[in-house]
Amino acid sequence: EMAVTDGETSEALTTLHRVFGYEAFRGEQEAVVEHVIAGGDAVVLMPTGGGKSLCYQIPALIRPGTGVVVSPLIALMQDQVDALRALGVRAGFVNSTQDFDERRVVEAQFLAGELDLLYLAPERLRLDGTLDLLSRGKISVFAIDEAHCVSQWGHDFRPDYLALSLLGERWPDVPRIALTATATHTTHQEITQRLGMPRARHFVASFDRPNIQYRIVPKSDAKKQLLAFLREEHPGDAGIVYCLSRNSVEKTAEFLSRNGVEAVPYHAGLDAGTRAAHQSRFLREDGLVVVATIAFGMGIDKPDVRFVAHLDLPKSVEGYYQETGRAGRDGLPSTAWMAYGLNDVVQQRKLIQTGDGDEGFQRRAAAHLDAMLALCETARCRRGQLLAYFGQDPQAADCGNCDTCLTPPETWDGTVAAQKLLSTVVRLQRERGQKFGAGQIIDILLGKRTARVIQFDHDQLSVFGIGEDLTEGEWRGVVRQLLAQGLLAVEGEYGTLVLTESSGSVLRGEREVPLRKEPKRPAAARGGGS
Ligand code: ADP
Ligand code: ZN
Repeated sequence: EMAVTDGETSEALTTLHRVFGYEAFRGEQEAVVEHVIAGGDAVVLMPTGGGKSLCYQIPALIRPGTGVVVSPLIALMQDQVDALRALGVRAGFVNSTQDFDERRVVEAQFLAGELDLLYLAPERLRLDGTLDLLSRGKISVFAIDEAHCVSQWGHDFRPDYLALSLLGERWPDVPRIALTATATHTTHQEITQRLGMPRARHFVASFDRPNIQYRIVPKSDAKKQLLAFLREEHPGDAGIVYCLSRNSVEKTAEFLSRNGVEAVPYHAGLDAGTRAAHQSRFLREDGLVVVATIAFGMGIDKPDVRFVAHLDLPKSVEGYYQETGRAGRDGLPSTAWMAYGLNDVVQQRKLIQTGDGDEGFQRRAAAHLDAMLALCETARCRRGQLLAYFGQDPQAADCGNCDTCLTPPETWDGTVAAQKLLSTVVRLQRERGQKFGAGQIIDILLGKRTARVIQFDHDQLSVFGIGEDLTEGEWRGVVRQLLAQGLLAVEGEYGTLVLTESSGSVLRGEREVPLRKEPKRPAAARGGGS
């Protein structure tokens, strides 16, 4: 038993102080480290920024031999190795970015027992040469980073990860540690199964980030809403604004700069030099805002990011969690703010349906999007919903630090409104054989004689003007929520609205449709995290 006893400092703790200069272990780190040092297998689920690296780095330093780290993040290996070398750790990597000679040097170091850590890309393990090399050296531990890549249902699936089960077969005496920040229950099971780690101990850190305040507001004019949010709650703070397209990244960065918020763009379309310059400014300066596509953030370790804002809907809850998780790593109050609207849903559905993914991919992508919509439209605690998604029990029913807890949304009986909307969709289809997007349907409900309404004679429909009791914004809210509840669907390139299997029960009056009220004005000024 290698656990710490009173008055005695463990070798692990000494290494933590001496090599990394940290005071104490965080959360589950110590338990993981002791278990692996003692030769046990471990599956570690820890949120991004939770401190997964130390879980294998310290055992690698303490156990005799080299720790072999399998990681798909080739682009980060050089940085990781440089950072370790700066601490005096003997680290190296082997991947496709190296030429023959560079690789030779690292291989020789490994064979001579001169490496504490060796980083490898998973595809290298397919090569006989690599397996042969590994079997001629001494290995202290195998670390499998980003282990969720083994999951065929996840969005990061890497076929090469499936071959990693052979590590346990060829090196039964070397402990293995699989690490990931993605922790849905199925992923967890798949990791254990596919990596062949039935005897592994499982360490599951809490995914709760209590210092992050979650807020999702209905989108009206996203850039203006963002500006108001930044002025009221985060003046002079560093943060990240995520947009879906390069074009909106550019426009938003310009807009913020013009309005007195220092902001720079970051996306894959910028040249490498500009990207590196903007990234390093973000890391070094106080209070710079980076407007970025999701290309930005992997491996970014800035503790005082005070807010993460989304101007477009992320594709999945996993993505949302990972991106918002870049806020507040220092533990201080931070905000995850998002503006989300009907167009987001229509656009994302279109991307899925017209993309080149096969049927299985489309189905999974749609399921991911549905979970994200459910989070957006929930009238309950957002944190509770997030944690439940990751299979964790929230501490309390209400966290008190998300928008729905701070200003519980009012609900109303939307049954009649839903019936009006659905019957408009039905009539267009049955009587006219037509399908239309939300804009036209809402114009019909509101009784608006637009050019397009006239063109299609839609003012002659019996449903024309039956929805004048609600505003356009309220109708968009109804559409969004029906989509999120699966009572309405959107399809095709033009985002046309169609019924689902469940729509009939609403039309027949067999079920009620509770909806949340649209806030009178965006909730931006409320409950500020700072
Ligand atoms: P993850 O891989 O889980 O995203 P990292 O291993 O990169 O997280 O760690 C995130 C940050 O936290 C790093 O800057 C790391 O140095 C720091 N860190 C990790 N463990 C500790 C600790 N025990 N004490 C202080 N800082 C830590
Ligand atoms: Zn809450």
